[in-house]
Amino acid sequence: MSDTIFGKIIRKEIPAQILFESEDVLAFKDINAQAPVHFLVIPKIAIPKVSDIQGSEHAELLGKLFDAANKIAEEMGIKESGYRVVINCGSDGGQEVPHLHLHVLGGRKLNWPPG
Ligand code: AMP
Repeated sequence: MSDTIFGKIIRKEIPAQILFESEDVLAFKDINAQAPVHFLVIPKIAIPKVSDIQGSEHAELLGKLFDAANKIAEEMGIKESGYRVVINCGSDGGQEVPHLHLHVLGGRKLNWPPG
């Protein structure tokens, strides 16, 4: 558990539009959607950022994050059209909330490269 805003969402101290929940993983709609579909997938344990991931320790959990992302993307109808999975890391990476999260964006043609 973390003391970030995502920790509060995990603990149900603040509301979110939850799309999926399991023992280890929570997914909810991004409050400031950048595409018609934009949701976040987070581990319930507080890994602050990508650079804190230990493959030996977190591999199974990372698999569960991607399983949840793909399952929700299919439910939201963007499996065929495609989508983007983004993980911002640290200040230059544009990370605002220091709790690891996958952004899943879709429902429109996304530009590349990102800004
Ligand atoms: P990042 O900049 O990668 O750390 O992304 C943080 C994301 O969390 C942003 O896209 C925010 O819109 C989103 N966010 C912040 N607070 C909330 C909240 N209470 N509920 C849902 N999404 C949020």
